[in-house]
Amino acid sequence: MLLIYSTRDEIKGKIPLIPIGSIEQHGPHLPMGTDSIIVEEIAKRVERSMRDKILLFPTIYYTCSLEHGNLPYFGVSYQTLFNYLLDLLEKIKDYFPLAIILNGHGGNESLLDLVRRQVNFTNSNFKVYIFSLVGKGKQYFNVNDLHAGTVESSVIKRINSDLVREEKLKEVNYEVKQGVFETITTSEANPFGIINLDGEIKINEQLGEEFIKRATEELINFINSLNF
Ligand SMILES: [Zn+2]
Repeated sequence: MLLIYSTRDEIKGKIPLIPIGSIEQHGPHLPMGTDSIIVEEIAKRVERSMRDKILLFPTIYYTCSLEHGNLPYFGVSYQTLFNYLLDLLEKIKDYFPLAIILNGHGGNESLLDLVRRQVNFTNSNFKVYIFSLVGKGKQYFNVNDLHAGTVESSVIKRINSDLVREEKLKEVNYEVKQGVFETITTSEANPFGIINLDGEIKINEQLGEEFIKRATEELINFINSLNF
């Protein structure tokens, strides 16, 4: 069930699912909303197959993308997002015993860990769970797409092929400097803003569908394992 279409009575007894993405550059060929589009697709599929159980919250789009340096992104500071999420969860706590955050963006990972610690270690009757898509490409297919590479390009192509500007990849150099996401930004590591450690991007719609399917199934199994 979608939160924004539900009445105050209908939300009762459901599990809140909160997708969180980003608005940031994804190379010359993918849309700024790539992480948000992917996370929303998986959230919608989960909601469709567990309509009686899941309450799908609107996606949180503006998040933490500092790691993109000089390349375009629209986000907020870590402090702002930390406080924003704590405020939101504080309110969710009044009505539900748990919430699941579905994360689609690597730049949110550390912060979400802190949010989870802060909430779960100070509450005995409310718990927040995080299901992250980050690293799933490596886990499922052994593909090393850290940003805007083979996995994301294939998934976006599967969701809406008009959103991938493949001809823009012709002039891309895939070399990546050491230290990306640790000591240097994406723009410093690769001026094209793509971090695909396997070299050339290989767009494969089937891989895209498989990624969505596996992540959806894994999240459904995770939700069922919560015994709620
Ligand atoms: Zn991304």
